Amino acid sequence: MATFIVLLGPPGVGKGTQARILAEHLKLAHISSGDLFRENLKGQTELGRLAQTYMNKGELVPDDVTIAMIRERLTRPDCKAGAILDGFPRTTAQADALEKMLKEFGGKVDKVPYVTAPEKVLVERLSGRWTCRAQGHVYHDKNNPPKQAMVCDIDGSELYQRDDDKSETVVRRIQVYLEQTAPLIAYYRSRGTLVEIDGTQNIEKVTKAFMSALEK
Ligand code: ADP
Ligand code: ADP
Repeated sequence: MATFIVLLGPPGVGKGTQARILAEHLKLAHISSGDLFRENLKGQTELGRLAQTYMNKGELVPDDVTIAMIRERLTRPDCKAGAILDGFPRTTAQADALEKMLKEFGGKVDKVPYVTAPEKVLVERLSGRWTCRAQGHVYHDKNNPPKQAMVCDIDGSELYQRDDDKSETVVRRIQVYLEQTAPLIAYYRSRGTLVEIDGTQNIEKVTKAFMSALEK
């Protein structure tokens, strides 16, 4: 049966970084809702234009369009063995929709690693984050710098600072997480799928914590 893992945690805690590593290791698709919105934005689709108005303010894109986008993504062939969901679900309505969709596809949410770090760490990570234009690979100016300044190690494309990683929006995104996404901690805990991970450690140690949590 396919394996579905949902990464839960505040913006900047390191979900995307770990999702990429784990997807490769576990041979699962990596589905990042934020990356999908940014691809739509780059492609100037209608969805991209709609999403941008919310993303720039640090607000969530409405559930109906977000759920439809993820549904389409989950039907692609690379999700046959399962996927790591990074940034989705972010509301209880999205979590309910995911449960239904996976049931339809013959799967379920198997594990929910919930990664934590104090707000100070999140702000420091988001404000130092640099993202690659081509494929969204992420770096940090101090914690995880690229070999060559402003250039992606993996694909050579230019690195940029996301508009929503600038300070006012960062504060709002953390607030939105606490209001709308944090209820999913209890949601998944009550289903017995939640595993807590200390996100304050370095990238390698967090990966180790993930691997041991997922083996259980
Ligand atoms: P999220 O997807 O949860 O928003 P990211 O994976 O994009 O988080 O990481 C946010 C920033 O923090 C990036 O600049 C990344 O390089 C850096 N980062 C990720 N994990 C760690 C870690 N364990 N220690 C220090 N910095 C990290
Ligand atoms: P981060 O990992 O730093 O929190 P993301 O790349 O996951 O950032 O998300 C960036 C923005 O995209 C969010 O602030 C929100 O506007 C939008 N977004 C991403 N995922 C969702 C989702 N599941 N539901 C609604 N909006 C989303």
